[in-house]
Amino acid sequence: MSVPHDAGTPGGRFLHRLRGGLRLRHHKQVSCARPVERPVLPDVLIVPLQQHLGLPAQALVQAGDRVLKGQRLGEVDCSGGVSVHAPTSGTVRAIEHRPMSHPSGRSGPCVVIEPDGQDRWCEPSPVTDWQTREPRDLLDALCAAGVVGLGGAVFPTHQKASLGRVRGTRTLLLNGAECEPYISCDEMLMREEPHRVIDGARVLQRASGAEHVILAIEDQMGAVFDALQQAVGEATDIELVKVPAIYPEGGERQLIQVLTGQEVPADGLPADLGILVQNVGTAAAVADAVIRGRPLIERYVTVTGHGVAEPRNLLALIGTPVSHLVHHCGGYRDDADRLVVGGPMMGFSLRSDSEPVVKASNCLLVLSADDLRAPQPEMPCIRCGECARVCPAGLLPQQLQWQVRTGQWEAAADHHLRACIECGCCDFVCPSHIPLAAWFRHGKGQLKAQARERAAADHARERFDARAARLERQKQEKRERLAAKKKALRERSAAKKKTPVPNEEVRR
Ligand code: SF4
Ligand code: SF4
Repeated sequence: MSVPHDAGTPGGRFLHRLRGGLRLRHHKQVSCARPVERPVLPDVLIVPLQQHLGLPAQALVQAGDRVLKGQRLGEVDCSGGVSVHAPTSGTVRAIEHRPMSHPSGRSGPCVVIEPDGQDRWCEPSPVTDWQTREPRDLLDALCAAGVVGLGGAVFPTHQKASLGRVRGTRTLLLNGAECEPYISCDEMLMREEPHRVIDGARVLQRASGAEHVILAIEDQMGAVFDALQQAVGEATDIELVKVPAIYPEGGERQLIQVLTGQEVPADGLPADLGILVQNVGTAAAVADAVIRGRPLIERYVTVTGHGVAEPRNLLALIGTPVSHLVHHCGGYRDDADRLVVGGPMMGFSLRSDSEPVVKASNCLLVLSADDLRAPQPEMPCIRCGECARVCPAGLLPQQLQWQVRTGQWEAAADHHLRACIECGCCDFVCPSHIPLAAWFRHGKGQLKAQARERAAADHARERFDARAARLERQKQEKRERLAAKKKALRERSAAKKKTPVPNEEVRR
């Protein structure tokens, strides 16, 4: 049962205890100590045509084309994804397959642009009088501007808001609770540009129909609260709430549980509870898209870790090679050992720093040799129960990992493997060094593949049945036509026999 652990929030909101989770040592102060900077233009920008969940955008340009900043490079139907835009003006050098900074390490089609150094914008297209426009117009503008969730999920924002509208969104929950220990890009955004975040909240409120807004930040973000409070002003429908810095409290489902005490069903969505959750960076991108008519072509990125000389936050163009950002931060230290995209808990190792920053890249973490624990040999499970104690999804990791290892997929699905958020808390505490989260990632992949295979088999069976029914129908129709023909012939000959012969002809 959830119990309050901090009833004294500034808004007086009653908070509920997060199930499981870990108190991790934060390392944010080091990247927050310097102001946010915008690096100089790189020599090349690599813009993947798929940076969102859904279908890839189809290229609208070809090699040799000149493009303006903000010009659309690729588009896809809004039911399948979002558009992709040029981060600066220049010349398209190629459209080719390149690695896309994805956990799978996969490659995909990218537009390679050589900047001309002039950074010339195309004509902005804001939605004027957005406060009175139909929500549909705002959602269309978000799709056209390529806005996706910047918290890491990169789900198209217009689709999420549209679903919320259909299911009756009452609360817009802006997620500023950045719980990974090194990431501070949302904190710096809220501190430096609080008005952009609040403007975005207003647009999202209009687009989704939400009656009020909760903006959640961590209780250790001192300066952020004051900046946001000033931006909110006298408004009474935006509530600022500080939540305790417990990992993974910034997860969508976990934050809802802490703020409302409600649990999103394992097979459901926050929309089922009338809640639309958006990251604060997404809100800022929404304001840019609708109020300023500017597409999503840049984002705040934390460049940090003991392996980089001057950790800080940067406002980076999408498509910038990672090496360019590290260079702007003073380069690698001698003991730099591993480059991770995201935080130490949920991030993934990047194979090369020539890969680009994409819409999902919130943090580039350069770990030193000292940061990396020597890999420990995996030991048998001792059934200590620690993993279950810290699991925020209320799962039984020791049991699940056995089911996944032995391929008991139905049992794993019955034990809610799909509800695992891959937070890595169980890994962190396991005294036997079992890579539990990696097993669950693999298991979830298997369940998805099986679901895809089942859907394909069902589809094939439906097509086979439909074909068999069509052939049977055609046969039946043929039989009926033949029978009708025979009947008509019989009737004609019978009619002939009955026809009386004239007398004259008989005499002849
Ligand atoms: S924490 Fe590790 S050793 Fe303990 S029960 Fe879980 S899997 Fe087994
Ligand atoms: S990785 Fe999955 S099973 Fe492990 S603690 Fe997180 S949610 Fe629970």
